[in-house]
Amino acid sequence: MQSPLSIVMYHYVRDLEHSRYPGIKGLPLDLFVEQLDYIQRHYVVTRPEDVIAAAKSNGESLPRNAIVLTFDDGYRDHYDNVFPVLFERGLSAMFFPPVKVVANHQLLDVNKIHFILASVEDPARLLPDLFETLDEHRAQYGLESNEAYYQRLGVANRFDPREVIFIKRLLQHELPERPRDAITQHLFEKFVGVAEATLAQELYVSEEQLKVMIGCGMYVGSHGADHLWLDKVDPEQQARDVDDSLAFLARLGAPVDDWVMCYPYGVYDDTLLDILRARKCAMGLTTEVAIADLGTHDPLLLPRLDTNDLPKSRTAEPNEWFQKVAS
Ligand SMILES: [Zn+2]
Repeated sequence: MQSPLSIVMYHYVRDLEHSRYPGIKGLPLDLFVEQLDYIQRHYVVTRPEDVIAAAKSNGESLPRNAIVLTFDDGYRDHYDNVFPVLFERGLSAMFFPPVKVVANHQLLDVNKIHFILASVEDPARLLPDLFETLDEHRAQYGLESNEAYYQRLGVANRFDPREVIFIKRLLQHELPERPRDAITQHLFEKFVGVAEATLAQELYVSEEQLKVMIGCGMYVGSHGADHLWLDKVDPEQQARDVDDSLAFLARLGAPVDDWVMCYPYGVYDDTLLDILRARKCAMGLTTEVAIADLGTHDPLLLPRLDTNDLPKSRTAEPNEWFQKVAS
């Protein structure tokens, strides 16, 4: 590797045990702090503006063992828990809130699904309601049988049992948009039972909080406006979504020249990349799991590591990802 840069991705970071939904899959705050100790022992936490400058110059000026931390989806966790810890250590990081969660107080579908799953002891309890709402939408949208979906999508992996994988896949991308929204909304109202705007106010940062973070040296970039699967919409909608997110960044006082795009769900296509280039985007972050190499990778297609790829103990020995970056 010529200019390795480890880009680490985080989502929820909270004191899970004492939170309203302890079943949410997130990084406990104490482990984040431990991981930060590990990171500071073995890497150089590089400032966002220095990372962006390096991305524009094929990695020149990047320190050895460079790392940058990125936080997706605009969770209040990032303001309440992450920002104070970083600030106290004189560190800065990149944050990517979609416009709709901050400006419109709407929940992301992925978050609705997390809270539906966290609201029941046994995910199988969700299936009768889910199948019933599928039945209601079957004729209109030409849906497959309940059994066919379950057989095809319900495959356990190392993180989740069969029912959970089935529900996530079905509601995240398998179904057409309309029935997907209707079913998610039904399950959310029945099992979570909290008004969407109320939960959104608790879950996400506000514009004022983002302005404070920017004032204290944090970087805020684009995660789109509506958190769409941007590879599945036409170029007009791609451009509108990107432009809405840039208008939002401008309103916050965040840079809109040499800015960073963090692709929702990690997806993109050629027309989206053209739209980003035309708008002076300097870096694009995917969810491909690898160490980025600014010397060889397209700066709009940089891979990231997940927090789960790094040790969560301050005393841990350097792991395989660090060996790769240091060699
Ligand atoms: Zn996201």
